[in-house]
Amino acid sequence: MAFIEAENVYKLYPAKRSLIGKPKTFIHAVDGVSLTIDKGSVVGLVGESGSGKSTLGRLLVAMEKPTKGRITVDGVNLARLKGRKLSETRKKLQIVFQNPDASLNPRMRIGEILSEALRVAGEEPSRDRVDELLASVGLQPGVAEQYPHQLSGGMKQRVAIARALAAKPEFIVLDEPTSALDVSVQAQILNLLLDLQEKYNLTYLFISHNLAVVHYISDITAVMYLGEIVEQGPAHILYKNPWHPYTKALISSMPLLYRVKAGITTEKVELKGEPPSPINPPKGCKLHPRCPYATEKCRREKPPEIRIGKNHTVKCWLYAKK
Ligand code: SF4
Repeated sequence: MAFIEAENVYKLYPAKRSLIGKPKTFIHAVDGVSLTIDKGSVVGLVGESGSGKSTLGRLLVAMEKPTKGRITVDGVNLARLKGRKLSETRKKLQIVFQNPDASLNPRMRIGEILSEALRVAGEEPSRDRVDELLASVGLQPGVAEQYPHQLSGGMKQRVAIARALAAKPEFIVLDEPTSALDVSVQAQILNLLLDLQEKYNLTYLFISHNLAVVHYISDITAVMYLGEIVEQGPAHILYKNPWHPYTKALISSMPLLYRVKAGITTEKVELKGEPPSPINPPKGCKLHPRCPYATEKCRREKPPEIRIGKNHTVKCWLYAKK
């Protein structure tokens, strides 16, 4: 059952303004995204930096409002919510960022950080609840007395996850939660996240530029390029049988050893150059300046979303019926 639904969602930020302050150009951070996240599932979102992944994550937890389009949570349109109803819904939606150093107040002890999170969630904090939160992420009660700088990177990220859990959320956006950590610690945090998901029946959007990590953790993988989801499908199918040239390029550039172990034999696709600016994105298919298969039609017209299997869609003219 769908828990989060984004329907044709756009987010534009003003880039340049005229002398009277009117926006002249816009950054097209999210450009017509539709995405369904089922209750209890993990959707992985991959793409290069600047593709709009984090902006989409912030929209889905109501940290920002879309410029256009509709986001529903458990069937309720976020745009219709105000006041108490909006803050009640926001509690269900949490986010964990890449860098816990930036999100944990260095002057507060861990116990105070978690107590504050409980208070914000409308719960009277107690030492028992703080200890319970610490235990849920594998930390000892003594950590409550420590300051963030006294903890390792992995421990700080566990605290950030515990803080998100304080509100008893149903949906968590994990925005590159392991990217700042050592490889050995990354695996521990991923396993912790999977354990928590099962224990609390959580729904995740897991954002990462690391395709191997997303392969490991996600049920559905969505691939984002310049603000658009160009392909989405079940992870076990999409990694072995990608359709979109961009997905093929990403997957075929994964380390050979990983691909061999995972049985991934995708043909190699090499893209030309770097992604263009999201301020003035290319017309038609946004990948056309870099795509080896681009045709005149790709330069002129946006490709439609084509369904190629259960929960598997692709946006590419190569697969449109003639
Ligand atoms: Fe390449 Fe054209 Fe497909 Fe875009 S629509 S990915 S340019 S073949």
